[in-house]
Amino acid sequence: MAYSAEKLSEEKVFKDPVHRYVHVQDKVIWDLIGTKEFQRLRRIKQLGTTFLTFHGAEHSRFNHSLGVYEIVRRIIDDVFVGRPEWNNSERLLTLCSALLHDLGHGPFSHSFEKVFDTDHEDFTRAIILGDTEVNKILIKVAPDFPQEVAEVIAKTSDKKLVISLISSQIDADRMDYLQRDAYFTGVSYGQFDMERILRVMRPREDQVVIKQSGMHAVEDYIMSRYQMYWQVYFHPVSRGAEVILSKIFHRAKYLYKNDYTFKYPPQHFYSFFEKREIVEDYLKLDEAVILYYFQIWQEEADPILSDLCKRFMNRNLFKYAEFDPAKEYKKLTELTALFKKANIDPEYYLVVDSSSDLPYDFYRPGEEGERLPIHLLMKNGDLKELSRESEIVEAISGKRRTDHKLYFPLDLIQDVTTKKNTKKQIMALLEI
Ligand code: CA
Repeated sequence: MAYSAEKLSEEKVFKDPVHRYVHVQDKVIWDLIGTKEFQRLRRIKQLGTTFLTFHGAEHSRFNHSLGVYEIVRRIIDDVFVGRPEWNNSERLLTLCSALLHDLGHGPFSHSFEKVFDTDHEDFTRAIILGDTEVNKILIKVAPDFPQEVAEVIAKTSDKKLVISLISSQIDADRMDYLQRDAYFTGVSYGQFDMERILRVMRPREDQVVIKQSGMHAVEDYIMSRYQMYWQVYFHPVSRGAEVILSKIFHRAKYLYKNDYTFKYPPQHFYSFFEKREIVEDYLKLDEAVILYYFQIWQEEADPILSDLCKRFMNRNLFKYAEFDPAKEYKKLTELTALFKKANIDPEYYLVVDSSSDLPYDFYRPGEEGERLPIHLLMKNGDLKELSRESEIVEAISGKRRTDHKLYFPLDLIQDVTTKKNTKKQIMALLEI
């Protein structure tokens, strides 16, 4: 029997707190889960620094990846199979792409990518196509199968329907992380009736559409996404922890470039400091390794690196103030000068962070980052863009909301003793 069609002699199930069970029947999927590149995702948290705000948020990208796979499997095996618009020979491609879509994520991806100028999507591709255990399994399916999977994940494949299951404004990725992140943070916002949405999904040539009768379940999903962004993902405390994290990377890189002698040489980072981006080195990085360095760097002679690591490890985070970059640039310039006077390096200790989200977008052809909208399948067979039917969705469509915060270490400011006036001025400007 062809490897692609091989089934396990007995179905395997993973107990999952969100989907109850994750079912695996295909040998290929089972083998992929067992690879070291996929197992590495156990050691990377789905929500980065959010656990410092919501202590339950310790779930991993491994959990999430299995969840995305399971949602796609249910859509295909329970809803799509047998429908003329669905080509079931694309089942394995879809399942593999769902399972592997986050394979290239690194530890604390967001900050890591910003400082080292890497891209988890490039690494996903490199891992799938490189000399890895994952590649060896995919290639057994067919010689061009790794390439096909990589193209679906990169959204460059011409299989638009398959892409839309994994990456669109209503896809398995979002449906999993909203529910999973809600479950593990303990908030009540991320819930919506996924079973209902799955049941009303229909395959079309170039995208998944939703039967009109499922519109209210989709409204609920969009609202829960909106709520999760503002209540969890953009939580100012987690963002403050993220600021410290990126400043640690930043400082370590700066010291390395300036020939500082580390007590504990950061070997795991060398290829990233030098921007060599070697896949083997990337795969050796996980959060256990990063936290090991943060732990030992607390004892480094460099006061900034040591202080920032202590803050992260012991959760002594920065405080924040609302900040309007359009109106308050003068204030920022003044603060920068005052911080220097007070011997607090503003590059590391005075940081503006901006977060923004677009809860739902209708189609704006030709615009940058255009997004395929959600289409409702009307009773007469026509397709209608969601915001034209739903007043709730229309109200938030196309509206980007941005939030800016200014982060600073309150304790260091309070400790400024030598220059009384400087301290007073800083506190007045920050309104503390
Ligand atoms: Ca994902």
